[in-house]
Amino acid sequence: MKKLLDLNLKTLCDNECIFCHDSTKKMWGKRWNDYDKADSIREKIKAGARNGFKAICFTGNEVLNHPHIIKLIKYARLHKYTEIEVITSGRKLKDGVFLNKLIREGVSQFYLPIYGADARTHEAVTRVTDSFQDIMKTLDNLCQYRVRVILTTIFTKKNLKNISALTEFIINKHPQMCFKIDSVAAFSNSLLDYKHVTPPFEMAIPFLKKTARIYKKRYCSNLTYLSFFAKSFLHLPPCILYNIFDRDLFNLSILIRHSKFMEGHNSNESFPYESLIKLPFCKFCKFYMICCGISKFYIKVYGRSEFKYLK
Ligand code: SF4
Repeated sequence: MKKLLDLNLKTLCDNECIFCHDSTKKMWGKRWNDYDKADSIREKIKAGARNGFKAICFTGNEVLNHPHIIKLIKYARLHKYTEIEVITSGRKLKDGVFLNKLIREGVSQFYLPIYGADARTHEAVTRVTDSFQDIMKTLDNLCQYRVRVILTTIFTKKNLKNISALTEFIINKHPQMCFKIDSVAAFSNSLLDYKHVTPPFEMAIPFLKKTARIYKKRYCSNLTYLSFFAKSFLHLPPCILYNIFDRDLFNLSILIRHSKFMEGHNSNESFPYESLIKLPFCKFCKFYMICCGISKFYIKVYGRSEFKYLK
C-alpha cells in the first residue's frame, strides 16, 4: 500500500452539514481570507515526497475553494506523487472546465458526499439549497472521465429512510462509482448535537438491511455481494454489521480487512481513533483485532447494550 500524505487545508465550506464537526461557521466564522498559505503547503508537499509518500490527499472544508488549489495539485504531480486524491463537497465540479483542469493537472480520485436520492433529503443534511442539483451535475460531468470516484454517505436521522433509495440510485445510474455508507464521525461537537443527528443502531438497522438486500439482488454471487457491501461500511463494528448481513454469510474477517486496507481513504492519520473505545468484553470477541471500536459519544448517548462480542 502506498504511503498517503493527508493535507488538510483550512478553507471555507460551501455546505453546512448537520453532522460536521468543524463546519466553517462553527470553527472560524466568516473569515474568508484565513486560508493556509500556499508556500507552507508546498513545503509539506515537498517534505512528503522526500519522505517517500507516493499518494497525497487534498482535503479541508472546502478544499476546492482554496485560491491556489490547481497550482498545488500541479506541484504535487511535479513531485512525483502518483495518486492525487481530493475530498470535496463536489459542488465546484459542476463547472466542467474547472473539473477538466483538475484532472489534467493530475487528480486521480475524488471523494464526494451524497446524502439522499432526492433534493429534499440531501439538502436536509447539507442545509444548502441547490446542493443536490449541483452534485447531480457533478456526477454527470465525472462520467466523462476515467477518474476514480468514491461516493460517501453518512446515515443520520434526517436521511436514514432514504439510504436504500440512494443505494439503488447509485448502483443503477453510476455503477462504476464506489459507494460507502458510514455512521456519524466519532468526533462530533457535543453530546446534544450527536443525539440530535445520530440514530441509534437499532433504529438504523432495518434501513441498512434493506440496503443489503439491494446489493444482494444486484450482485448475485454471495462473495461479490458481501465484498461490495462490506466495503461500504468502513467504520461500523462487526457486532453491528452482524445484524445487517445474512447471518449464514457472516464471515467478515477477510472482507473487512480487505475493505479497510485496500479500499478508499487509507490514511490512518486523519481518523480520530482516540475518540473510539473498546469495551472490557471486547477482548473475548473474535473480531477484536480488526474492529475499529465504538464511538465514545455513542456510548455516552445510547449506552452499550447493542454491542455484544462475537465468538
Ligand atoms: S471488538 Fe467489541 S465493538 Fe468490536 S465487534 Fe467485537 S464486541 Fe463489537
